[in-house]
Amino acid sequence: MRIHDRSRALQRRAESRIPGGVNSPVRAFNSVGGDPPFIVKGKDARVWDVDGNEYIDFVNSWGPLILGHAPVCIVEAIQRAATQGTSFGASTPSEVDLADLVIEAFPSVEKIRFVSSGTEATMSAIRLSRAFTKRKYVLKFEGCYHGHADDLLVQAGSGLATLRLPGSAGVLAESTAFTLTLPFNDTAAVEQAFGEYKNQIACIIVEPVVGNMGVVTPNPEYLKDLSQLAKRGGSLLILDEVITGFRLSFGGAQELFGIHPDLTCFGKIIGAGLPCGAFGGRTEIMDMLAPIGSVYQAGTLSGNPLAMAAGVAMISYLKQHRASLYGSLERLTNSLATRLDAAARASGVPMKTSHCGSMFTCFFTSGQVCNYGDAMSANQQRFAAFHRSMLESGIWLPPSQFEAGFLSTAHTMEDIDQTVDVGASALSRIPVEEVRDRQPKIKPGPVL
Ligand SMILES: *Cc1c(COP(=O)(O)O)cnc(C)c1O
Repeated sequence: MRIHDRSRALQRRAESRIPGGVNSPVRAFNSVGGDPPFIVKGKDARVWDVDGNEYIDFVNSWGPLILGHAPVCIVEAIQRAATQGTSFGASTPSEVDLADLVIEAFPSVEKIRFVSSGTEATMSAIRLSRAFTKRKYVLKFEGCYHGHADDLLVQAGSGLATLRLPGSAGVLAESTAFTLTLPFNDTAAVEQAFGEYKNQIACIIVEPVVGNMGVVTPNPEYLKDLSQLAKRGGSLLILDEVITGFRLSFGGAQELFGIHPDLTCFGKIIGAGLPCGAFGGRTEIMDMLAPIGSVYQAGTLSGNPLAMAAGVAMISYLKQHRASLYGSLERLTNSLATRLDAAARASGVPMKTSHCGSMFTCFFTSGQVCNYGDAMSANQQRFAAFHRSMLESGIWLPPSQFEAGFLSTAHTMEDIDQTVDVGASALSRIPVEEVRDRQPKIKPGPVL
């Protein structure tokens, strides 16, 4: 048994000072049980906790760390920037450099603005789309998470799915009155909404490959259909590429699926692990932003020089290595998924690893997962048992059935072999009587 005494003591201290002991709910272990280990160090594909336990990390800070922990090129870029000062409240050259790099990678983005989080990016993109179209309604999809702005916290996946909350207390019904929420992967539902809300829908916002109900991929023509329906209806299409941007390919999901959105939201990878987000798109839309337009949007630390330096180092590295990097990430992920699935079959456990590029989720269900309803029917208890076993054997997975795991370029085939070995043994230990019981039992986390 691994020792977790120091983490446990820290968690108790944290709980007396910080609600739930965490500064973001997805870090809590409510749905998988036990106390979360406190991390003191990460290098490449590994992290170490305060009790000295080592883990192969598949959380990767929830997506930003596509090069793994503390890659030299990024650490050096941050160090160099920090010695020159951490923030000025004035423009710095690296903002223009990062803008150039993102715009070159994403042809649909003609102008961009940097913010400090993905939440700010989507919130601002929505405001902009309403101003541009002079319309009220926002169309989103069940299980897609776009940050924690009031009008987007409806059926929003991620931590809400893990804690089984439909939305959030403190969000006024008035704030979500103009948010339409439809099932993902259902084109007919979108067509119908455009019929019912003619000339009232400002935008469709979507995670092109969903990470926040676990990994759910779009049906083959789905994103193209959304794009056409938005265009035909005079609405904007906002691709929330906060996870997928620079992850599924250098040009994100839009390059992979051949989509040309009106606006794109970024986060996670573009800040390389520092707080950073961005949104961008067509010039005529972006130029509505203050100071040249009438849409107000601002941030004291927006375009922060440390985040920009980290982003420039990250995107430059990806640009240089993109020819081989994305293919090898996908091959590794594919190997992990197919071998875990084979181990599950061998143990008679209904589990399928949904994956796309370097994103994956082990769904404990025998059915296909195409939308939020499918995801929610997966067995949380089995996932919790699997998660505990994996963690105890040194494999760090997201502590929720409804989140994506991520591979980085620091993961090796040996890491995958080890993960599959541990995984096979974890799957074989899931209680047989539980496996025979095909009815998923939903048990909420202990502290709701
Ligand atoms: C993480 C995430 C966000 C929110 O980003 P924060 O930096 O956590 O505010 C928005 N959209 C998607 C798709 C995300 O995964």
